[in-house]
Amino acid sequence: MAGVIVVGAGVVGLSCAVRLLEAGHRVDVVARDLPLETTSSVAAALWYPYRAHPVERVTAWSRSTYTALGTLASDERTGVRMLAGTEVLHARTPDPWWKTAVPSLTRVESLPAPYPDGWTFVAPVVEMGVYLRWLVGEVDRLGGTLTRMALSALPDRADVVVNATGLGARRMAEDPSLTPVRGQVVYVEQVGLDRWWLDGSVPVYVVPRSRDIVVGGTDDEGEWDRRVDAAAASGILARATELVPELAGARVVGHRVGLRPVRPEVRLEVEQPAEGATRVVHCYGHGGAGVTLSWGCADEVARLVGPG
Ligand SMILES: Cc1cc2nc3c(=O)[nH]c(=O)nc-3n(C[C@H](O)[C@H](O)[C@H](O)COP(=O)(O)OP(=O)(O)OC[C@H]3O[C@@H](n4cnc5c(N)ncnc54)[C@H](O)[C@@H]3O)c2cc1C
Repeated sequence: MAGVIVVGAGVVGLSCAVRLLEAGHRVDVVARDLPLETTSSVAAALWYPYRAHPVERVTAWSRSTYTALGTLASDERTGVRMLAGTEVLHARTPDPWWKTAVPSLTRVESLPAPYPDGWTFVAPVVEMGVYLRWLVGEVDRLGGTLTRMALSALPDRADVVVNATGLGARRMAEDPSLTPVRGQVVYVEQVGLDRWWLDGSVPVYVVPRSRDIVVGGTDDEGEWDRRVDAAAASGILARATELVPELAGARVVGHRVGLRPVRPEVRLEVEQPAEGATRVVHCYGHGGAGVTLSWGCADEVARLVGPG
């Protein structure tokens, strides 16, 4: 039985921990921020392969995650639901590159101006507060541990270390290609919305949850500031209300900001160790799609680590 340390308790680290525990490993998760304090807890979290590369691997990971989340949606304790929604487009557009990751995607011909094109599909929508708690419960149920610990370097005393530190990998893997892309969201009261809406060009997204609606967003390249910007929040609400008029007058119940860990390509690979050194599996740089890629990446990490 190999002892695995997973560094990071966002959606990526916790999903990896679950798959490694299921494969029979002893797993300890250590993280500076506990799950509800992570970027993952800010995610909207609509299944959508946004700002993650490369195309082939992202499509495959997204497809696996779609299936896994679809299965979890049958248990309401997970916080996962399958919801139909619409992506609006400002020009006639070919099918999306990730089309094969969803079971069906239908063109919508009758959208009002200014949208000449669009498509609709059923996608997993994940209520992250509920889901991250459920993932922690799974880690615990399967015999893993979760400990708060800020590290200055990856541990060197385990059989295997999984580096799931998100943006923290800039330091943990000395990887300057990882950059923050700041995203701000506004939470409004549920006004009876049961479909998601997306306009990727701005971006605008409206994602209904059980008690509230996540309304986004912003996409600020290289911006580290995690304070809520009141002017940005007004802009987000104004743009979203144009797309989804039912939001007009909805009561605002909260605001959050997160920093997407964007990288030219997701890094999921084994770093070949020097003789006798700890084997490291890197799994970070999921951009705006960490939830969307989570189970596909966790499956691959478990394959790379091997059987317990
Ligand atoms: C506004 C917004 C909306 C989003 N919407 C969606 C969406 O709809 N769908 C979707 O799929 N994705 C979405 N995302 C993207 C998604 O949130 C990220 O891709 C995802 O959270 C990355 O997960 P992660 O586990 O890699 O990183 P994180 O959640 O950031 O977790 C990293 C973990 O590593 C730990 N760590 C870092 N450094 C150290 C250290 N030195 N020592 C110990 N621990 C350390 C942290 O404490 C944390 O526990 C959104 C993001 C934002 C900001």
